[in-house]
Amino acid sequence: MPPDPSNRKSTQGAAAAAEARDRAAARAPDASGLSVLVVEDSLPLRRGVAELFERHGHRADFAADGRTGLRLALASPPDVLVLDLGLPGLDGLALCAQLRAQCDRHVPVLMLTARDTLADKLAGFDAGADDYLVKPFAGDELLARCLALSRRHRVGEPHALVVGSLRIDRRTGLASRHGRPLALTALPYRLLLALAEAWPRALTRSELVQRLWGEEAPPSDPLRSHLYLLRRVLDRPFERPMLLTVQGVGFRLDGDA
Ligand code: CA
Repeated sequence: MPPDPSNRKSTQGAAAAAEARDRAAARAPDASGLSVLVVEDSLPLRRGVAELFERHGHRADFAADGRTGLRLALASPPDVLVLDLGLPGLDGLALCAQLRAQCDRHVPVLMLTARDTLADKLAGFDAGADDYLVKPFAGDELLARCLALSRRHRVGEPHALVVGSLRIDRRTGLASRHGRPLALTALPYRLLLALAEAWPRALTRSELVQRLWGEEAPPSDPLRSHLYLLRRVLDRPFERPMLLTVQGVGFRLDGDA
C-alpha cells in the first residue's frame, strides 16, 4: 500500500513546527527584541504597528486574515500574538481557541478590538486571550502590554507565569514567592492565577467571580473569604504585599513586590 501523503505531510509539518519552537525557545527576548505576530485586516493599522515595533528593536510578522494568522502562529510561535477580533476567514476568538487547542506552548495573546463591553472581554478571555486592548489605543500602551505579556510568559517555560517575586507553574498548579512554596487551596490558587494572568491589569470583583464560578456564583460575597485566605498565604509571610486593592476598580498584583 502506498504511503498516505496526508500522513507524510503532517509529519513534516510537525517537524517544522518543532524546529520553529526550538528556534523560538533559543531566542532571548531581552537580548534581541520580541518577535510579534500581528493578525489584523486593516492595512494602515498593520503598518502603524509594524513601524512601532521595529522602531523599538522588535520584529513583527503579519497576517491579514485569521487562517493565515493561525498557520503562522502554529508554524513559528511568536513571543506575543497581537490579534484583531473581527477578521475575515476565521475571527479572532476562533483563532485564539484553535491556537490554545493545537499549540503545545502558551503563546501570549493580546486581543485588539473596537468592542468594549464586559461581555466581549469575557468572551475573549474564555477563548484564551491574555490581555485586551480597545481601539483606538496608544502605541506606547500596546508596546508596554506586549512587553509585560512576554515577561509573564517567559520563552522556554511554556507553563510558567512570572510576576515579580511570584512564580506559578500552571502544569503542576504550584505557586511560589521568592522561591518559597505557597500552600494554597483550590479557590485561592485560582484567584491568584486569574490575577497573574491579567497582570498588569486589575480585575474587577465581577470579573473574578465570573472566572471562579462562571454563571453559578454563590450568593452574598463569595470573594471575601477567598481573598482573605489568599492574602494570608501570599502576603503575610513577606515584607511587601503583592495583592493590591484598587479603589473603585478591583484587585491587581504588584509586579515590583
Ligand atoms: Ca478587523
